[in-house]
Amino acid sequence: MDRRDFLKTAGGTLLAGTSCAYAFRFLTSAGWASADIPSSGKKWGMIVDLTKCREGCTACMDACRHENNVAHFGDERWDIHWIKKVKVESQVGHKTMEKNVMLLCNHCDNPPCAQVCPVQATYKRDDGIVIIDHHRCIGCRYCMIACPYNARQFNFRDNEEWPNKDRPKRSHGVAESCTLCAHRLDVSRMPACVEACEQVGAGALLVGDINDPDSNISKIVTTGAVKRIREDLGTEPKVYYIGL
Ligand code: SF4
Ligand code: SF4
Repeated sequence: MDRRDFLKTAGGTLLAGTSCAYAFRFLTSAGWASADIPSSGKKWGMIVDLTKCREGCTACMDACRHENNVAHFGDERWDIHWIKKVKVESQVGHKTMEKNVMLLCNHCDNPPCAQVCPVQATYKRDDGIVIIDHHRCIGCRYCMIACPYNARQFNFRDNEEWPNKDRPKRSHGVAESCTLCAHRLDVSRMPACVEACEQVGAGALLVGDINDPDSNISKIVTTGAVKRIREDLGTEPKVYYIGL
């Protein structure tokens, strides 16, 4: 039985089963995370400084696309975005303020996407990065429904472009989201978006170990001058915003 036959036969029973499991696991947050590398004691997090992020700049998105072979067909029906920049309006007194907000996977410490995945294709590594094993993914898209941040996307088409031959070519029929460039962090390199943001002189992105009290990221987080998106959901996002 291949992965798609599995889906067909499992059908509604699977859906009902996972929603119960999801409800339970979301409350307990234990027992579902798995690790594919030895524990380093690290927990990776990111800071997005919106006061430095430039309007109209796409350096981070372009670098991410190139590094990870993220599909771009020039057609919004099929394009994949691991990073998005959206305009958010807020009312301050009588004034309507507009902000450009960079969005990506929050690498939640309590990730609903991993909790609903029926084949454990989505999992949280020991260092906190939430990742998808594309060989296991059966394309059911439960994770896309479960993610409250709309961070997951689905590859409906094969991507013929393959700019970075060191990374796998993207194939259709699987879910995708930011990996925090785990392959780079594992060899002590910064994610492609962080490097690109530095290169254009904005320096709006910072990635570091939030378990290390002496790291730059921890020092900023502990000032309390950061916000996370929808903290009330209990997902424990590890992307922190300045100026949100
Ligand atoms: S933001 Fe969404 S895809 Fe990313 S870890 Fe959280 S629930 Fe999962
Ligand atoms: S689509 Fe998401 S939930 Fe379904 S198998 Fe793939 S990673 Fe898991």
